[in-house]
Amino acid sequence: MGIRVRCHCGKLQGELETSAVAARAKCYCRDCRAFARFLGNEVEILDGAGGTEVAAALPSGLRFTQGLEQLACMSLSPKGLYRWYAACCRTPIGNTPRDPKVSYVGIVRACLDATPAELDAQLGASHINANTESAYRKIPKTPVGTALALVKIGSKVLGARFGGGYRNNPFFASGSATPVRQPEVISKEARARLY
Ligand SMILES: [Zn+2]
Ligand SMILES: [Zn+2]
Repeated sequence: MGIRVRCHCGKLQGELETSAVAARAKCYCRDCRAFARFLGNEVEILDGAGGTEVAAALPSGLRFTQGLEQLACMSLSPKGLYRWYAACCRTPIGNTPRDPKVSYVGIVRACLDATPAELDAQLGASHINANTESAYRKIPKTPVGTALALVKIGSKVLGARFGGGYRNNPFFASGSATPVRQPEVISKEARARLY
């Protein structure tokens, strides 16, 4: 079973296997907000408390089916996560570590072409809240859910590491740590403006 991935204008499309998703999360950190601002689309990406919804997934479960040339990459700092988006309409796609051996992508909800009810049906309704201390308003912490999700994510990441599945990652050139796009690392000043 899969969920269609689609940028807003439809040029970049793909599919996410639901079995690759370990958990749903809302991240209230400043970096995720800065990324939404970089894309110029806070209204659509962020919820009322400044949170970004992501599906924590194995990159091997994501496949681009058309418009791969639209895929672009930025980073908020020289060591920051790679943040991927569709250049055509600045729709966020996902966030990955710089090391593909850590087999993880936080797929941003905005690129999932499904209604809230469809997402709940395919991925489960519950989500965890991360970095709640930097939310705009008080957001309940989800300690038990977070711990369970970390175990689930960790076991998937380790499984991919030792099973070799990490090599199957659409964001990196096959079997290497080279991202498929040259990341645009923004300056400190530009980052400060986004905060
Ligand atoms: Zn687009
Ligand atoms: Zn975040």
